[in-house]
Amino acid sequence: MVINFAAGPAKLPEEVLKEVQTNLVNCNGSGISVMEMSHRSANYAKIQDAAIADLRELLNVPENYRILLMQGGGTGQFAAVAMNLIGRTGSADYIITGSWSAKAAKEAAQYGKVNAVLAKAEKYTDVPRQSSSTWKLDPNASYVYYCDNETVEGVEFDFVPQVDANVPLACDMSSNFLSRPIDIKKFGLIFAGAQKNIGPAGVTVIIVRDDLIGKHLKTTPSILNFELMHKNSSLLNTPPTFGVYVMGLVFKWVKRNGGVAGMEERSKTKSKLIYDIIDRSNGFYYCPVQSQVRSHMNVPFRIGSAAGSEQLEKEFLAKAETEGMIQLKGHRSVGGIRASLYNAITLEETQQLAKLMVAFYENNK
Ligand code: PMP
Repeated sequence: MVINFAAGPAKLPEEVLKEVQTNLVNCNGSGISVMEMSHRSANYAKIQDAAIADLRELLNVPENYRILLMQGGGTGQFAAVAMNLIGRTGSADYIITGSWSAKAAKEAAQYGKVNAVLAKAEKYTDVPRQSSSTWKLDPNASYVYYCDNETVEGVEFDFVPQVDANVPLACDMSSNFLSRPIDIKKFGLIFAGAQKNIGPAGVTVIIVRDDLIGKHLKTTPSILNFELMHKNSSLLNTPPTFGVYVMGLVFKWVKRNGGVAGMEERSKTKSKLIYDIIDRSNGFYYCPVQSQVRSHMNVPFRIGSAAGSEQLEKEFLAKAETEGMIQLKGHRSVGGIRASLYNAITLEETQQLAKLMVAFYENNK
């Protein structure tokens, strides 16, 4: 048995993988695989329409928002968001709380002026509480951008930033999408790459308010253009059909398992289990992130601060592997250990990790 704690591409529900396997050579009675199906066929239309309808239901997406399926991943959206939204005033506000929002800001700076809302942090371990003294929001910004869950550092917003009514909020939810209910009305745009919580890499979901469509820069490539994508029902060119199919099955799995409220409850229990062990280990394990904004999806932690602790981390990772727990290594930019507890990770699997952490502590404290 292998337990996959990867940050992404990440574990998918076993039930969904088995369903994919069963239907692989004969998808929904069509006699062919979804990979061999025309994206213009009635069979594929059913798959895509159902995925979008299920997502709309899961997140309670209001009527005046479109759901687009695009390619190019989160990184594609770093450019797309800017190219589609920055034209209104020529500038945008970026709340930089980790590596991914920093990358998004850098990309956007190619298309307009980017204002950093927060003072530059030496390390990304916190989200400063919103106040006019620490947050420099520009009333003239075309939009305010942030990343709800920073996958590398494990920093997750515990609130939705407050912005002027006429300034749309744009949010990267790639690594905590469908992990909790969200009030879509507070956002102008949300995007998420699929490969963490909702499916295989290659498909990206965009939820965008109607009035923000059609304001793109003239130089926007067609495949990043929200208006063209919307007018063509996300079929402007060949979509990642297999990814859309699997994603649709994941949405049905989320619906069967208590919806996003069910996912939230599970992820709170799972992440608490691991953070509690860290906090009760007398500093043997430590998590550098401020407790209020610790991610429920990606739990980064280190072992000790004394010399030799890196060796202990290596030993921990090796021991985990011998017990079938894989891909626990922290991101190469920060090191250490990172346990990603996405929706598909079960409580029992999290308990296995907890057991290992306790035993490793007892043996090495
Ligand atoms: N945003 C977040 C929060 C991410 O975790 C990632 C990648 N894992 C990205 C954006 C970039 O996504 P992609 O690799 O699909 O371009």
